[in-house]
Amino acid sequence: MEHIRCLIIGSGPAGYTAGIYAGRANLRPVLYEGLQLGGQLTTTTEIENFPGYPQGVDGNQLMTDLRAQAERFQCEMRSGIVTAVDFSQHPLRLTIDGQTDLSADTVIIATGATAKYLGLPDEQKYAGMGVSACATCDGFFYRRKKVAVVGGGDTACEEASYLAGLASQVYMIVRKNYLRASKIMQERVMNTPNITILFEHETLGLFGDNGVEGAHLVKRRGQADEQQVDIAIDGFFLAIGHQPHSEVFKPFVDTDENGYIITQGATPRTNVAGVFAAGDVADPLYRQAVTAAASGCKAALEAEKYLAEHNL
Ligand code: NDP
Repeated sequence: MEHIRCLIIGSGPAGYTAGIYAGRANLRPVLYEGLQLGGQLTTTTEIENFPGYPQGVDGNQLMTDLRAQAERFQCEMRSGIVTAVDFSQHPLRLTIDGQTDLSADTVIIATGATAKYLGLPDEQKYAGMGVSACATCDGFFYRRKKVAVVGGGDTACEEASYLAGLASQVYMIVRKNYLRASKIMQERVMNTPNITILFEHETLGLFGDNGVEGAHLVKRRGQADEQQVDIAIDGFFLAIGHQPHSEVFKPFVDTDENGYIITQGATPRTNVAGVFAAGDVADPLYRQAVTAAASGCKAALEAEKYLAEHNL
């Protein structure tokens, strides 16, 4: 069975940054790139908030550059996904694509998360043309325009507050008659003059000839007073939660109630010695490319320390 000193899982900013650091530390890391090469950033267009790019950078270009930088330091890229793990013993055991077994001294989990969508065909139809799941990524394109945010949790309130600083009007489309968000976030959105909360509304579809121009909503669906409403908007933002990709690790690695891997304090250490988590799979709060990259760096530094301390 092949043995790897530092195995990195995931090819977003966290995984590639871990690869750069682990490579430079001579750990000869192996990185499994997973299903979505380059991660979530490859689904956005222009990235304007990654430091070092005053003119912005294309998401695919940024990930291509990060990959090349990791390869420069002998981080070996492989295609494949981890389909099973056994972290009950050391060395740690992993199975790739259901067929290849490996052992590893350290594992860095950087498998990311996926934004949840409503499942409407129009979300696909208008992808990149007014539909987004990231206000900090795309909000800037909606300055002085009208947008809607779907969801009533903390993420939705944060996204709505952020967008309210840019857009002329923000609608929150909330399916219940209350917000699930923390009190402080509720108060913030309720006290923002250009945020209108549409309680008990659900989205039926989107319309528009050149991108999103509006949404078809239904109020109090299934009730006697059910009513169909259209709103004019230029942007439609999903904020109904994210799904971290932690399923395969759950038998051994502690996660919170939403599936995010729990790390210890400010470190990327998990409850399993030698296993570290970086990026969105362990971050329900910030979910930014730069924070993911930073945690990938920390995970590689921790892996290096662990290997040295255990003479591996
Ligand atoms: P949540 O699960 O807390 O909220 C999801 C929201 O989306 C709910 O209002 C839910 O409605 C709604 N929703 C879910 N599915 C649908 C659907 N199909 N159609 C319409 N609406 C839907 O997710 P968040 O991402 O907001 O938060 C995740 C965790 O991260 C939470 O614990 C949160 O507190 C935390 N967080 C904390 C922040 C902070 O402290 N600054 C910032 C962001 C997140 P319903 O209520 O009806 O189920």
